[in-house]
Amino acid sequence: MDMPFFNVDPKLLTLSEQAEVIAAEAFSEITRITEYNQQKVLSAFIRHHVSESHFVPTTGYGYGDRGRDALDEILADIMGAEDALIRHSIVSGTHAIAIALFAILRPGDTLLAATGAPYDTLEQVIGHKVPSAGSLAEYDVGYTQVELTEAGTPDLLAIQSALEADQSVKMVHIQRSRGYNTRPSLTIQWIERIIKAVRAIRKDVIVFVDNCYGEFVEEREPNEVGADLIAGSLIKNPGGGIAENGGYLCGTKECIEQCAYRMTTPGLGREVGASLGHTRSLYMGLFQAPHVVGEALKTAVYAAALFSSLGYEVSPAVNEKRADIIQTVMLREQEALIAFCQGMQKGAPVDAFVVPEPWDMPGYTSQVIMAAGAFTMGASIELSADAPLREPFAAYMQGGLNYHSGKVGVLLAAQSMLEKGCFTL
Ligand SMILES: *Cc1c(COP(=O)(O)O)cnc(C)c1O
Repeated sequence: MDMPFFNVDPKLLTLSEQAEVIAAEAFSEITRITEYNQQKVLSAFIRHHVSESHFVPTTGYGYGDRGRDALDEILADIMGAEDALIRHSIVSGTHAIAIALFAILRPGDTLLAATGAPYDTLEQVIGHKVPSAGSLAEYDVGYTQVELTEAGTPDLLAIQSALEADQSVKMVHIQRSRGYNTRPSLTIQWIERIIKAVRAIRKDVIVFVDNCYGEFVEEREPNEVGADLIAGSLIKNPGGGIAENGGYLCGTKECIEQCAYRMTTPGLGREVGASLGHTRSLYMGLFQAPHVVGEALKTAVYAAALFSSLGYEVSPAVNEKRADIIQTVMLREQEALIAFCQGMQKGAPVDAFVVPEPWDMPGYTSQVIMAAGAFTMGASIELSADAPLREPFAAYMQGGLNYHSGKVGVLLAAQSMLEKGCFTL
């Protein structure tokens, strides 16, 4: 197909067409899962009698906000959980996860990270590496970590020994997505295996799953395989590119009750929290989410096909089972990484004219370069690439509100690398 509106090398265009042929089988699997999840979401909306009256904003304390309360029930239903909290006032995924940790853990308890180091922004929430104001460490909550095996899979025996060795473990942390690591993402089947292994040793620990980037990628969600509590961000998958901010928690009645008291205050819990007119976009975003996740997955698969044909190592591979929307492309050198991000930025609907540069992002330990030209600031369900400037100079790209524009961003990333001489055709 010609691209009259963009300047792309004809040889690259040929490779792009071949990439779509290579991706065809993976695309049809994505379509199948999207249909399943879209029907799951639509039927939940219908079952809960969603109507225009749910979108009416509340102000002040926000008592009796029907739309807010109904959306909690709808999300719980979709995720296969007993209860849920979905709020624009949870400012981000990190905030949602911090609510979960502080809600469950008490002084003297230990948090066990079962799938290696948690996502970068949680380091200061846990406070185990360096002192951090307000962290779990300041409340005398302990922390231990079980590394993944060399193959990047969970080490079930090591998780079990860690549980046996330390009776103070109250909560097990599992991260579904790879985050900024080159490990594979965890499939729901792996999450199920970890939970079974944990339960075989301790029935009473709370299993928490950081569900960021994983929602609607598979047919099942972590609560359906026994997770007690999960959390995620609304400027990623479940916000469908429409929610302007927010986070959510889903889990057992008891866990969600604790979370509600941590989210606002003991006593008040979920009874307060005015929706201020955000409800409609949370509903609409959740409704759109399965479709948008499908489009983002297609964009990722296309990138895997294109960049592997250009000789780069990619993860996941084109036909590998996916557990999140992230696509890693190992660009091997700093210049290539920067060219990739700068090229992708050129295909953004917003801020295409700006040139991204590496910077010291709060909460992250190495410099990061990002391509992000989004309608919602920082929204990574929109096409974006994040890359910490460290070995192996991997670009973590994700998102794409629709495949057609996502494809352009990926292609312009490759074009920019071609122009900088990172590869020849
Ligand atoms: C993005 C992300 C977070 C944090 O979410 P924010 O909304 O950026 O705060 C936590 N864990 C994982 C795995 C993530 O991908």
